[in-house]
Amino acid sequence: MPARPQAPTLSPAGTRVLQQLVMTGDASRTALATDTGLTPGAITRAVRPLLEAGLLDETGGRASTEGALGRPATVVTVRTEAHLVIGIKVTADQMFGVLCDLRCRVLDELTVPVGDHGPEALVSQVADLVERLRSGRPEVGSVGLAVSGDVDAASGHVAYSPFLGWRDVPLGQEVARRTGLATTVENDVRALLTGERWYGVGRGLSSLALVTVGTGIGCALLVNGQVVHGSFGVAGEVGHVLVDPEGPLCHCGNRGCVEAIAGSASILERMAQAGFAGLGIGDVAELARSGQPDAVRVLAEAGSAVGTGIATIANLLGAQHIVITGEAIGSSPEPADDERDYDVMDPHVRAAFEQRAFGSAARSAIELRPLRFVDWARGAAACAVEDFVTHYGRS
Ligand SMILES: [Zn+2]
Repeated sequence: MPARPQAPTLSPAGTRVLQQLVMTGDASRTALATDTGLTPGAITRAVRPLLEAGLLDETGGRASTEGALGRPATVVTVRTEAHLVIGIKVTADQMFGVLCDLRCRVLDELTVPVGDHGPEALVSQVADLVERLRSGRPEVGSVGLAVSGDVDAASGHVAYSPFLGWRDVPLGQEVARRTGLATTVENDVRALLTGERWYGVGRGLSSLALVTVGTGIGCALLVNGQVVHGSFGVAGEVGHVLVDPEGPLCHCGNRGCVEAIAGSASILERMAQAGFAGLGIGDVAELARSGQPDAVRVLAEAGSAVGTGIATIANLLGAQHIVITGEAIGSSPEPADDERDYDVMDPHVRAAFEQRAFGSAARSAIELRPLRFVDWARGAAACAVEDFVTHYGRS
């Protein structure tokens, strides 16, 4: 097997060009200059070492008026399989892994149960899953892990993860040691946002908010083109925005937080209080659709609470686009079910948002969509790609 070429030393312009091409896939040199604000000479100097390292290809195939005297413009393309990444979403009972190319297209995926979720046992299981996904693919160069809770992405430490019962676990360091691969660890909701930023609705946006509605309410923010980590690891806690001071008790100790009204555990508990015990979130949506008054009321209140929470985000940040997703919005593996799962909450989210968003903040585009587990893993893979393109060629 041929040795992998040594990474060249890249200038900041080289990094900028690589980032742009990983986002777009390909571009003419002229378009690259326009998109990055670099001169044609700087583009030439930036592209050369990346071509030599085998990360880019250049073809003269696309006829264009850009070329002088009618010559076809040369198109620079990222070689998406030159560096592969593995993304893994870690939960206390299952791990979802994907093998992706540099544009985060899923080449392979694998879900495995988690036996023991103590840190040491889990690191071994992550390493095994990485080995299964990378089998026979020497191009695999990095791993991204997505974990719920308070994660220090810079050090790869999980400071606190309530679902895993972990405190201060050097997860990134341990997985890197076991696999020999560059390893990135990120909070799971921020990982989803990173995926949107590189490959989804966030491409080209400077501000974006992503809210997940499940057992908890998660939120990740992109502000001025940067993912917000918060000075103390906490930012965008929309789940604990106050909706109703007389509302249900929240696990944070306050009353009437968004999460205490719209979190799926809270929705199910309120249905149980109304005499409907043992339901899943999809059952509540089904009951609401059939007009059952308790289900209609509980989901309407949940939707309004989420709408109030995202209006707060819009009022504070003026986000261009707000994505609302998660298991309470719809996570069924069957697309046909996904289509139906969030229709009940949608009008209540929008009505509360429109009522609460101040002035032009109401222009934020609101999008509700279902969430599949593979999306979490793909977000983790996007973090690995981001780390690769940001640090490639940097000493
Ligand atoms: Zn709370």
